[in-house]
Amino acid sequence: MKTSPETLQALHAAEVQRYLDTHPRSVALADEATRHWLYGLPMHWMRDWPAPRPLFVAEARGARLRCVDGHVYDDFCLGDTGAMFGHGPAPVAQALALQAGRGLTAMLPPGTLPDIGRRLAALFGLPRWQVTLSATDANRFVLRWARAITGRPKLLVFEGCYHGTVDDTLVDRADDGRTLTRASLLGQVQDLAIGTVVVPFNDAAAVEAALAGGDIAAVLTEPALTNCGLVPPLPGFLEAVQAACRRHGTLLVLDETHTLSSGPGGLGRRLGLQPDFLVAGKAVAGGMPCAVYGFTDAVAERMARTKEAAPEGHSGIGTTLSGGLLGLAALQACLAEVMTPAAWARMEAGAARLQAALEQVIAARALPWSVTRLGARMELQFCARAPRDAREAAAAMHAPLERLLHLWLLNRGVLLTPFHDMLLVSPETDDAAIDRVAALLDRFLAGLTPA
Ligand code: PMP
Repeated sequence: MKTSPETLQALHAAEVQRYLDTHPRSVALADEATRHWLYGLPMHWMRDWPAPRPLFVAEARGARLRCVDGHVYDDFCLGDTGAMFGHGPAPVAQALALQAGRGLTAMLPPGTLPDIGRRLAALFGLPRWQVTLSATDANRFVLRWARAITGRPKLLVFEGCYHGTVDDTLVDRADDGRTLTRASLLGQVQDLAIGTVVVPFNDAAAVEAALAGGDIAAVLTEPALTNCGLVPPLPGFLEAVQAACRRHGTLLVLDETHTLSSGPGGLGRRLGLQPDFLVAGKAVAGGMPCAVYGFTDAVAERMARTKEAAPEGHSGIGTTLSGGLLGLAALQACLAEVMTPAAWARMEAGAARLQAALEQVIAARALPWSVTRLGARMELQFCARAPRDAREAAAAMHAPLERLLHLWLLNRGVLLTPFHDMLLVSPETDDAAIDRVAALLDRFLAGLTPA
């Protein structure tokens, strides 16, 4: 992209003004909210959206969102995956309404528990399950179990990973391979290198070398990295990681929270992998705060033995509302009536259409860009082919261009996921919305004057 930084800046300033002019209600609410909320927001990272003031939501339904100023958006962010099956799927909404009249939480299970277990096992291919409030918690608890049952202190993750706000995973890799506590992490007083080893994704030899020390309890990874751009696994890489784990007595944990987009059971299932643990959150209960982790019978036996051998008292695993009645009602409805083969087929077809349309726009302008897709999820990347690791993905990023693209699209009724150029297609996303976003990308590119 040859557009000069000055041109990008001027275009961005115009979009900022356009947003402020056309969103008076959001701007007023943002100013008012600042009095009682940090940054005027319920959660500080909502600032990462590209708008100069937060967009306040009036309603989100299906694949569309309406803001308080009455503008309607085609939502390709979908709550960064929480609403992957559409905003407020009707079966989930009905189940929540019903359950709300019957109790929200009791620290006791509902009668639907065996049914939910059967459905999770059928979908993901793992027999035993636990429920948490978030994917972060699920990952955190899995790591604790993994260390407890193996008696090993360390964890291996990949450079560029994100698994929620789990301290052990918030690390970077120095050029010499050392683990660094991520510089942006607030309030961390431990040296995370003590418990975490970090290696490049798609580097099976590095995994093998790290596991050979015999002190690594678990390898935790997404089957494709989705939080540093999108880095798909090279053929055979994950199989090699799995084999190395087996050889060295290390547990393989697949975090399918985002890669659930790949199809029923996630990307690992599609590739025929057999993890020891699997984590899924965000969309698994239709966007309700609820996540799950599954494991094999062999792992379940080791967990039970370890728990029974420990003294009575706090295990460090669990929170009061985890496995609550409301979350389980949403999970049951989502498994039974939302995550259907038909829904996945619609997502796949819509996403294939969107990928083809975006690729056509890119090809028509002979841009060295690519679109990498995992089922319903795709990433537009400013590189000619999919990156092989986080460093390649980072090298392909172009922050000013991305910032402008996001705000330009938002001003024209399209939401992309902040942080990167991810587009997610829900079963509710219609062809018109898909064709519209591709046409808008074309118009956006036409407006960038080469320097
Ligand atoms: N795992 C992955 C792969 C994620 O991308 C995220 C969040 N983006 C999480 C876990 C954590 O999810 P949550 O913030 O809902 O806990």
